[in-house]
Amino acid sequence: MGYNDHIEDQEFTRIAPDKFVCADCVEDSFLKDEIEKHLAKRKCDYCGKGGSGDVAAPVSAIMEPIAATFSYYFEYPDHAGVPYDGGGYAVDLNITTEDALRHLGLECQEELFADVSGSIGNDTLWVEAADGLWLGEHQSEFLSSQWAKFVQTVKHQSRFFFSSSPPSARKITTSYTFLMMRDWFRKGPPSARKITTSYTPSEILAQIGKAVSSQGLVRTWPMGTRLFRARERKTNDTWSLDDATQLGPPKDNKARTQRMSPAGISYFYLAKERETALAEVIGKPPCRLAIGRFSLRRNLCLLDLTQLPSVSVFDHEHRSQHEIWSFLTEFSRLISQPVEKDGQEHIEYVPTQVLSEYFAKIYKKIDGNPLDGMVYHSALRETGINIVLFPPQQDQKGFMGLAELIGTEEVTFQNWTDFCRKIKQTSMIKTKAP
Ligand SMILES: [Zn+2]
Repeated sequence: MGYNDHIEDQEFTRIAPDKFVCADCVEDSFLKDEIEKHLAKRKCDYCGKGGSGDVAAPVSAIMEPIAATFSYYFEYPDHAGVPYDGGGYAVDLNITTEDALRHLGLECQEELFADVSGSIGNDTLWVEAADGLWLGEHQSEFLSSQWAKFVQTVKHQSRFFFSSSPPSARKITTSYTFLMMRDWFRKGPPSARKITTSYTPSEILAQIGKAVSSQGLVRTWPMGTRLFRARERKTNDTWSLDDATQLGPPKDNKARTQRMSPAGISYFYLAKERETALAEVIGKPPCRLAIGRFSLRRNLCLLDLTQLPSVSVFDHEHRSQHEIWSFLTEFSRLISQPVEKDGQEHIEYVPTQVLSEYFAKIYKKIDGNPLDGMVYHSALRETGINIVLFPPQQDQKGFMGLAELIGTEEVTFQNWTDFCRKIKQTSMIKTKAP
């Protein structure tokens, strides 16, 4: 069977039931919009909702994007090139149409789900595929695997001169060579098609830079935004709570290895919430902590990895944006993973340190100016948000030109129960008299 027959075959499965559905019967916002665009009947055949005007669209209105997405991520084993081994396929096939639809995240009214599944075909078992090929990689998977390769390289292979790897050192990965060969037989010579190679460490950083720009993740945090920073106060510490230098970032020669900065280079770490600032520094109670409240002295441009605008998987015209969103969501989770402070953190933190140096020194915003910092999820407090400010490249006042200490407090925690109780209390920070 040729490639064109295959397309027709897929089309054949897209016969939608002759029914009408309302926007309330689907969860996905893109599918809701498709229904709203094609309203043609006053009653929904699934939930029974009716109105004085049209409230339901033909099921075919959503069936088309669902089927297009389905055939993008799943394929018949024969068409995807799953090899035979003896009497059957070399891999276990266990993905039913319903499994595949759930995997895509289709949430809808029960009877509608059964109709969609039935239209695609309930008797078929599928394999996950990319570009119609078993073992292929989608853009998000490819970027994730390249990030994993970057992590491995900077942790265990080359830390300082990776950016000078000559282009000739790039290799086409084995699976891709295999896929391209097989693809050649099926679809013709590769010259007309995209050939994916693996990225060097510098290239994956540039790709991540491109991805965050395309998703609009550089945002302005306005002057006056309140942020928090905590520091442990040992029993014999006598520094004054009003001393901004004690609650601000350490001097370079005192800077320890951190998630986003190596030892010896000071970055300014803050938290959006007082609770997060406390959770980030608390050791083992009983302990005493000083908390400072800071206010941004000017508008700052920050790369925000905590609010990624989602693109529906069913929005087939924006497939690439969905894939990039999908990668960035996973990436944002990975860079905020907890790291055991067991002495190995200087290795575990290397990939995020290189990443943050890339955004601090190399990356440029659309207007050509550098970023002021990065926003990322706290590894220690589920909903907590951390901010790291990069050493200012132009500001003569250094970090103090970015944020000002406007209030302080001291908290003592006797044990973890005490900590859990007090962390929920409203801030008792006293703002300094103007
Ligand atoms: Zn309905």
